[in-house]
Amino acid sequence: MSHEGIRFATKEEQAREDAENHPLPRIAMTPEKVRVLLTEGKGLEIDWKDGHKSAWSFAFLRAACPCATCVEARAQQGLKPGQSKPKAAELLPMYTPPPKPSSVQPVGRYALQFNWLDGHTSGIYSWEYLRRICQCHECTFVSAEPTGAPN
Ligand SMILES: [Zn+2]
Ligand SMILES: [Zn+2]
Repeated sequence: MSHEGIRFATKEEQAREDAENHPLPRIAMTPEKVRVLLTEGKGLEIDWKDGHKSAWSFAFLRAACPCATCVEARAQQGLKPGQSKPKAAELLPMYTPPPKPSSVQPVGRYALQFNWLDGHTSGIYSWEYLRRICQCHECTFVSAEPTGAPN
């Protein structure tokens, strides 16, 4: 019996293996209906081909921007996609309107691009990414479980 298959995976390798071992079926990454509730300022809703339904607020989506700059900023602050910075006590508390896009456009057949009112437009939200950050009870439970970390 050979032991050469045994090795310790780094956290990053583990995450990559998880994604490879639990690939999403195509049907789970194909939107049946996409609703952008722009006038209401509510957020995005997607009904997927496999019958699953997802909904995100614009605030969540802005804080889950998948562009390299935002991914890096979140990594530095230890934030998960969709988590915003805890509001520190500001010297001059100012009302900041909740994030909202001025427009949303499809990118090919695989993604959406938001033109945020704050001028940020570099995030390309692929269907797969959106499905993976689904905020429904079922999905948040599953994705929160394997870490086993308190908090
Ligand atoms: Zn970004
Ligand atoms: Zn879900």
